[in-house]
Amino acid sequence: MADSRPLLLEVEHLCKWFPLKRTAGDVLQRKEKRYLKAVNDVSFQLFKGENLGLVGESGCGKSTLARTILRLYEPTSGTIRLNGTDISHMKGDALRRLRPQMQMIFQAPAASLDPRQSVGKSIEEVYVINTDYPAPVRREKTMELLERVGLKREHYYSYPHALSGGQKQRVGIARAIALDTRFVVLDESVSALDVSVQAQILQLLNELSREKHLTYFFITHDLGVVKHFCDRILVMYLGNVCELAESSVLFHKPLHPYTESLLAAVPRLKVGQEHSTEFVLEGDVPSAMTPPKGCPFHTRCSKCMEICTREKPPVVEQEPGHFVACHLYEKKKEETEA
Ligand code: SF4
Repeated sequence: MADSRPLLLEVEHLCKWFPLKRTAGDVLQRKEKRYLKAVNDVSFQLFKGENLGLVGESGCGKSTLARTILRLYEPTSGTIRLNGTDISHMKGDALRRLRPQMQMIFQAPAASLDPRQSVGKSIEEVYVINTDYPAPVRREKTMELLERVGLKREHYYSYPHALSGGQKQRVGIARAIALDTRFVVLDESVSALDVSVQAQILQLLNELSREKHLTYFFITHDLGVVKHFCDRILVMYLGNVCELAESSVLFHKPLHPYTESLLAAVPRLKVGQEHSTEFVLEGDVPSAMTPPKGCPFHTRCSKCMEICTREKPPVVEQEPGHFVACHLYEKKKEETEA
């Protein structure tokens, strides 16, 4: 069903494959070139002003997908459109002009801050690189930004080592919104913070989203955070889309066996709500260098059928806005139609 909300981002059949080094043996045996298929045929849309969560186990390609969308990696194939413009292979000045609109906030803000540079200088650097504001304007804008993200003007002169984890993350947010930003990727941005600080940072991100009409792509493995912060959730496994739905729908009526397993793994505090053993995931995620044939999840799926070992299931809209890639539902659809 067509959605009438304005689109910010359209990703179609996006792939990011990293070529593997060929060994002397490979060359002698004339083996085909091999790839690590980090992102494999991913399609989705992101609407203006929404928070889309991206979840999946470590190594499933979440960060590679985000970095490819931000054009930090060149896509192997597929299309990325931002505000209707194809940016998939944009280069040079055009790409540099686009950068301020798309920003990323990292998990470890300390790693993205120069320990020898004061907080103020590291934020001001964004203006030095991207604008021709005179020095007094840059400084005043930096001071205003510090206040907007909940820091004090005095923090302009502080060095990263003197800040707490939450304060460093506020500096990361200030750098990300300093320019005319529209799209922000939050890559596990609150995962390393204490729970109380997490809540404060999420509150700040919500306020900024409303104020500056930001759209967030929120990468995390914390389903509790994503449930409360995101409008919709995209579930990935081994570089592929498993399921995409509104948060409330996904949590109450997951369709894909992998989503069921992820939700079953969330710790329960209430007596009587212990885990169901039906959905407990066994084994490790297969290597993206040698992904299984057919459904990428079939080696761990308790509902695996014969077709799953042969054919990769397409992503199908089962209910309005609820997409799933699983042969179980194709079969059910055929039975209903018969
Ligand atoms: Fe499981 Fe088959 Fe569905 Fe894959 S397609 S999730 S193996 S039932």
